[in-house]
Amino acid sequence: MPVTLRAFTCGWFQSPLTFFLGGEDKRIVRSPIPAYLIEHPQGRALFDTGLGYRFRRPIEERLGPDATGFEFDESADIAARLRAIDVDPASIRWIINSHFHADHCGGNASIPNATIIVQTRERAAAAAQAGSKLYDRADFDLGHPVLEITGEHDLFGGGSVTIIPTYGHTVGHQSVKVKLPGGDVVLAADCCYLKQSLDNLRTSPSDADADAALETLRRLAALREKGTRIFYGHDEAFWKTLPTSGEPIR
Ligand SMILES: [Zn+2]
Repeated sequence: MPVTLRAFTCGWFQSPLTFFLGGEDKRIVRSPIPAYLIEHPQGRALFDTGLGYRFRRPIEERLGPDATGFEFDESADIAARLRAIDVDPASIRWIINSHFHADHCGGNASIPNATIIVQTRERAAAAAQAGSKLYDRADFDLGHPVLEITGEHDLFGGGSVTIIPTYGHTVGHQSVKVKLPGGDVVLAADCCYLKQSLDNLRTSPSDADADAALETLRRLAALREKGTRIFYGHDEAFWKTLPTSGEPIR
């Protein structure tokens, strides 16, 4: 079955490079906050939903080059991005959340009719740590139906959209493999922040489980070796190679 994939920027954040790679390089890097729309004859799914409304700032409040924090204006939430291409947020059937950190599920609030698909262990970790810096119930616990899965899950049958476990960044992180006309892609999210993370098999100090994170990077590197395109989680240079105004990705 044919699948269409589209990418959206649902905010930006700026942080020292050390946040992603550890080490000494404290240069401030600017990172996109991605969300993806996957359309299949059986329904529409989002992979991640970006930031929630509480992070909104007026469009004039751009971050200076050395500032850290979020940049998220009223055009950048997932509902606005969908409406801009004439997709009704209420028509989304599934939300696949890579994990329950704020920059990945904050937009769940504006997708009213979706069922959320999450790894059982991620949901448990988020519930256990709710109210900490990492997890906020305002993002992930809004009454949507939830489909908990463990490991791989073929969303529509037929292998066109497969959720794959990519533990390490969080205990229950997951990614999605999509079969496109141009070949397979893996929407990695935070198990592989940057191209550099994969090139050098560099985990992040922010990973919950460094061993699992490294094992995940090795699996992704093997996939990339065989021709799968990896869509890095927060890599500005990579992001600029994608269409982000609603055109399908080939
Ligand atoms: Zn993230």
